[in-house]
Amino acid sequence: MNRERLIRTFQELVSIDSPSFGERAMADELTRRLKELGFAVSEDGAGTYYGGTAGNLYAYREGSLPGEPLLFSTHMDTVEPSRGKRAVLHEDGRITSEGKTVLGADCMAGTAAVLEALTELKEEQADCRSLELLFFIGEEKHLRGSAVFDYSKVRAKESYILDLSGPVGTAADQAPTLVDFQITVHGKAAHAGFAPEQGVHAVAAAAKALARMELGHVGKNMTVNIGHIEGGVKATNIVPDTCFLMGEVRSYSHEQALEEMKKIEALFREEAEKAGGSCEVHFTVPVHAYQVPGDHPCVRRFRKACGKLGLSGDLKPTFGGSDQSNLSLHGIDGLVLASAMEQVHSCGEYTTVQGIETVAELAKLLMRDSA
Ligand SMILES: [Zn+2]
Repeated sequence: MNRERLIRTFQELVSIDSPSFGERAMADELTRRLKELGFAVSEDGAGTYYGGTAGNLYAYREGSLPGEPLLFSTHMDTVEPSRGKRAVLHEDGRITSEGKTVLGADCMAGTAAVLEALTELKEEQADCRSLELLFFIGEEKHLRGSAVFDYSKVRAKESYILDLSGPVGTAADQAPTLVDFQITVHGKAAHAGFAPEQGVHAVAAAAKALARMELGHVGKNMTVNIGHIEGGVKATNIVPDTCFLMGEVRSYSHEQALEEMKKIEALFREEAEKAGGSCEVHFTVPVHAYQVPGDHPCVRRFRKACGKLGLSGDLKPTFGGSDQSNLSLHGIDGLVLASAMEQVHSCGEYTTVQGIETVAELAKLLMRDSA
């Protein structure tokens, strides 16, 4: 690996501001680099759809090795605080931000690794699989970019998403369904001193329902959370007429997550109606559960490459969503590879020179595997 070039690429990518739905400069830079590497690049209309500055990037390059194309993917956006970030290389090989922003190793470590693997393959004029690349926008906003991509143009049946924390050489083969919900309990306002009996206390009704909910781990495979609650107006003498709550359900079983959502809805309806009020429940399912079969070619290929590099090749479930969740929905099975990003979504985020380098080597082996 050309270590210096790899780290320079990483630093250059990190220095580009690329907040969710503000990925224009990153999309332009990646497009330029991919064209140099011989890829046909196109951008979809996801940016316009969401009011962002750039769409998802799709790139394709015919290979000299037989077989269906392999798909590699990362996302272009980073979480806040992200403006003006800079990658600082330390003597021990760690790379951090300057402390006031995230680093953006999520997802630029994986992105730089893929670019370096491609650059080396080109320099070596090495045989390579046909490759499809996807760089998504808005991943950090509930996978919005990959939710609207037109997958009919993708030929690959196998994908590798470079977007996971943990030891390089491990990967996630299972992810949960995520249900996001919003509940509004409607009561009736009344003067709290003169005529409280004429009111319907929305906060009290919601509190009763909430007290009956199971929160945290519910069984082995599911979690439930209420993340935010607000109710009434800022006054002590009014019986509050509304209470608003938002939360989520996560489960490795899609059906179980939806069933739990139904239970929660029923609970709030019951308590609201008992109090003489009513209740509105809205939910979305931004992430769908999947599990890759253990004998899938993408698993065999990953394990083989890890073996060559002396890496564990361990698979484990993740309880977070990634763009792979949307790929799986469209019939593209794949793994989410650990990609040298640690303490992500914090200003303490870091990566290591050796970590990125190993990810690049792994990507290169996968791209060259014709079996
Ligand atoms: Zn990420």
